[in-house]
Amino acid sequence: MKNIIFIAPPAAGKGTQSDLLVEKYGYIHISTGDLLREEIAAGGELANEISSIIEAGKLVSDELVATLLTKRLSQDDVKKHGFILDGYPRNIAQAKTLEEILEEVQSSVDVVIYLELDEENAMKRALGRATCPKCKKGYNLYLEGFKPNVDGICDNCGTALETRSDDNEETFKSRFQTYMDSTSPLLEFYRAAGLLRNINSLQDKNKIFEEIESVIQ
Ligand code: AMP
Repeated sequence: MKNIIFIAPPAAGKGTQSDLLVEKYGYIHISTGDLLREEIAAGGELANEISSIIEAGKLVSDELVATLLTKRLSQDDVKKHGFILDGYPRNIAQAKTLEEILEEVQSSVDVVIYLELDEENAMKRALGRATCPKCKKGYNLYLEGFKPNVDGICDNCGTALETRSDDNEETFKSRFQTYMDSTSPLLEFYRAAGLLRNINSLQDKNKIFEEIESVIQ
């Protein structure tokens, strides 16, 4: 199984495509945003600090994210099923740290998928995004084909949908700027390594998935 990194602006569909890959191929989906939100939910001593950084649309410290990621990448299931990294690396320093972590656990990155999306469409998607807290199914309240059947309710399990507190206009703008400044230089980094594949994320989600499948097969 090819190990995958997704690079994309906020709300380009990394989560949706990761879910499809997990369902069909059994990948282990590692989202550093989820790992950080779990830290906040667990209420540890760093919870408040992490939460205010996320709300400001800035990046949490490289050291903290690396600690959480190393812990997750060292678990046996990752070796067995392959991984999708969603939200890491987010800058060049993290890409170098990732190489060290993967060397330690005797693994590697096989392909880097860049989901291209412009700022206007990314914002539209981010502001409409909603997730079921119970079964984790993702929706978009503004996009046809992604709306729930009943407003605000999960089609699968009937639970009330939740939105992320950082999916507001002000935080979005800061997150997009952080992406442009810190994350987009990674595209050249991985292009030079011969690992980068571009996919247009304005296409239908099934078409995007087909293109991803052709890249990983
Ligand atoms: P995401 O769920 O990937 O959109 O991430 C939500 C927020 O978590 C980001 O805006 C950052 O504040 C933080 N975050 C996620 N991944 C990282 C990372 N690799 N490095 C630093 N901060 C991160």
